[in-house]
Amino acid sequence: MQTLIPAAWAAAGHGIPSVCSRHGLPATLRARTRFESAPAGWTYALIPLGLLAFIIVRAVTRHVVDAPVWHYCDRCRSRRRRQQVGFGLLTAGGFAIPVAAIVTEADGPVASLLTATALLALIVGYIGLVRARWEVIAQARVTRDGQWIAVRDPAPEFDAEFAAALAAPVIGAQQYAPAATPTTPAGWSSPR
Ligand SMILES: [Zn+2]
Repeated sequence: MQTLIPAAWAAAGHGIPSVCSRHGLPATLRARTRFESAPAGWTYALIPLGLLAFIIVRAVTRHVVDAPVWHYCDRCRSRRRRQQVGFGLLTAGGFAIPVAAIVTEADGPVASLLTATALLALIVGYIGLVRARWEVIAQARVTRDGQWIAVRDPAPEFDAEFAAALAAPVIGAQQYAPAATPTTPAGWSSPR
């Protein structure tokens, strides 16, 4: 299940719920978040032609929405910190192993094993660090047409707040309204 938030709203910071999208808990952090679209399936067919071709086409076809406001709770923050520390250490280990191999003058099967271990640590560490980006914590990305932020499996509290924002009168609508706007009858109080 996913909730679609208009990309224009996210870019303007309008209608973004005040709870985090992953847990639905009250926010303790507002962070600027850069959302990207997933590569279209056909772009992967370019990888055999070369990683560079894939990266170029990916860069050209990618949609990015820079949201000035997105909310995160304490659990989101500790999840990100854990990932950054854990995978950061793993990546550092990947760089340290070849140094250790040179210092200890390892050779033969030991050197091959160390190289393989270092490579694996670097790959897993890199993927883990990429997964620690805010957009992944928020479980959201831009749709391929660039029009929406798709939030995957949002918390019910997040969904409810967004539904309320959708139902609310659009801010700025008055600029499109005719000059002679009917006035609110006396005795009416505006909502909230
Ligand atoms: Zn959270």
